Amino acid sequence: MQQTKAQNMYDVVIVGAGLAGMVAAKMLNEKNINYKVIEASHRSGGKVITAERKDHSRFFELGAQFVNEDMTEIVSFIESAGMELQETDVNEKSMDITAPTRKALGKCVTDVQHEMIKATGEQDERLSDLYERVITDEELKKVISSIHAELLNIEPSRLSAKVLTDMHERYPSEKSDLTHQASGPLSHLISFLEKNLDGKIVYNEPLRQVNETKEGYTLITDNDQYRANAVIMALPPAVASHFSYSSNLEQYYRQALNSYTDGAIIKTTWVFQNAFWHYYAIDGETKHVGGIVFTDPQGITVADSSKIGDAEVRLTMFIGAGLARNLAKEDEIQRKEIATELLEKVFGEQARTYVDMEQSVWVDHPYCGGGYGASVHYRGVDTAADVLREPYNLFVFASSELAESFPSFMEGAVRSGQYAAKQILKRI
Ligand SMILES: Cc1cc2nc3c(=O)[nH]c(=O)nc-3n(C[C@H](O)[C@H](O)[C@H](O)COP(=O)(O)OP(=O)(O)OC[C@H]3O[C@@H](n4cnc5c(N)ncnc54)[C@H](O)[C@@H]3O)c2cc1C
Repeated sequence: MQQTKAQNMYDVVIVGAGLAGMVAAKMLNEKNINYKVIEASHRSGGKVITAERKDHSRFFELGAQFVNEDMTEIVSFIESAGMELQETDVNEKSMDITAPTRKALGKCVTDVQHEMIKATGEQDERLSDLYERVITDEELKKVISSIHAELLNIEPSRLSAKVLTDMHERYPSEKSDLTHQASGPLSHLISFLEKNLDGKIVYNEPLRQVNETKEGYTLITDNDQYRANAVIMALPPAVASHFSYSSNLEQYYRQALNSYTDGAIIKTTWVFQNAFWHYYAIDGETKHVGGIVFTDPQGITVADSSKIGDAEVRLTMFIGAGLARNLAKEDEIQRKEIATELLEKVFGEQARTYVDMEQSVWVDHPYCGGGYGASVHYRGVDTAADVLREPYNLFVFASSELAESFPSFMEGAVRSGQYAAKQILKRI
């Protein structure tokens, strides 16, 4: 390891160049703060990553993709990066169905979620135990647990029931999270943020240890050491739980960090030339299927991810929790085939008429965690996000999970980065 060089001393070091870290950096940049961002991987963006076909004919979002109009901060960044919002092709006439049972899903899903929130007590219990207490209809129980296994990317038996109330309170929108998408690849947003950071990001620099001393903070990476007066840890809490901390930081944060468990998600998108799911025969009528919830196997949903105005149409499948972990062990060809077979169960041979397909695996990712975000597990501290979000001396965590609004969405990452930067700017 090299000796700490004078040029490795900063007012602020930000760890992680995902959305939270980059947005925090942008704010420090605007105030002419002497800062550095250290990033473990070779690229910025974290869970925002686009795959573009070599001939630029089409692109796929491997991670984050959808927004709604209440997610004002990320929408504003998308627009600043030169893109517009485009509507996803689902509306109030589209219908969600179950698979393989092929039944229409109604308002009962929202109603039962409200009942469950009301029934959540002060005592911690497993989310799966809450289902047993509140939901009498066995089929509905399967629907709800499958939705949660996908949405939270973690088996409901491993989660605290309080996650549900938390999810509800911290999603300040009546709109679905899928209503809009950027008109172009989100990699444009990441390039826009990078440009503003003026070469301040050091790549391939994974942090391993942080020490707080009287002189400030020392951050030890695989290659170097950095000294800083303040630190913003802009990475998922379950990832941050693997680092070593000096005893005061360890004592203050360990319980909160260990309260999080990582999700697991596999995202598959198919491109079609014909939107056959717009003409789906169900209960004697022809309906536009906008979404599918698999009750068997659990943890799978499918969404119409087509954008209004695009020539091609798309379906995207999200496979979460245990099934994602198991599938991640298969090779790529087998994994793609399993996903297509699942789609075939609903749409028959038409599912195989796709012209392109992309799949991304977010399971046990060493730097981004496994899913959309981490969640507090059963017996975890339910105030963990509050503990991590507020600075302790000049040290603070930021990441989508910690945002007061829209955790585990891009909006949460932006808001959390902004909040952390504001807190540090107030104090240095
Ligand atoms: C498949 C998938 C689909 C999603 N879909 C949506 C969607 O449609 N809409 C939406 O709003 N959100 C979606 N999300 C969630 C969204 O992507 C995240 O909430 C958001 O991008 C998280 O940003 P972040 O900055 O908090 O964390 P991250 O993106 O995880 O960034 C953390 C950064 O820290 C770096 N890092 C980690 N460890 C170290 C270390 N030791 N040293 C230095 N750097 C380190 C990482 O490499 C990474 O760059 C999706 C996520 C996934 C995986």
